[in-house]
Amino acid sequence: MLKKLVPRMQVNTIYDIDLNELWKQGKRGIITDLDNTLVGAKAPLATPELIDWLKVVGQIGFQVVIVSNNNKPRVSRFAEPLSLPFIYRAKKPTSAAFQKAMHLMKLGPEETVVIGDQMMTDVLGGNRMGLYTILVLPIERRDEGFFTKVVNRSLEKAALTWMRK
Ligand SMILES: [Mg+2]
Repeated sequence: MLKKLVPRMQVNTIYDIDLNELWKQGKRGIITDLDNTLVGAKAPLATPELIDWLKVVGQIGFQVVIVSNNNKPRVSRFAEPLSLPFIYRAKKPTSAAFQKAMHLMKLGPEETVVIGDQMMTDVLGGNRMGLYTILVLPIERRDEGFFTKVVNRSLEKAALTWMRK
């Protein structure tokens, strides 16, 4: 269980990801979390910086699907202006949404990257499916609910401590 919480890569922000290196490794699709990964949980729309980044992602050739546990109004309002496919109420870490996203991209697990800010949902879900998982620092921790903050974070701390050993 603990092993499955450990991401393949850890970065501060999505902008620190070496996209060309991932492409070289044969990755072709990105399943990304929304809240606190692409923008803060209270930010309804993409920032100009994110729009530029998505442009680069597309130019390299990656497909992108937003997979979020949040509700339809939140996810559609964010994703539709970007013309990105999205899955809401994804119930991460369960596998169905990850499978659906790969199906949308017509890609297999070995070609697919998962980006997210939570080990208990994004990383655990991706690892269980054999995807390449990238953990980012949450953009705004203060916007998260009590459960996420206290329970998930302490589990993350435990897993990261275990990882360093
Ligand atoms: Mg998140």
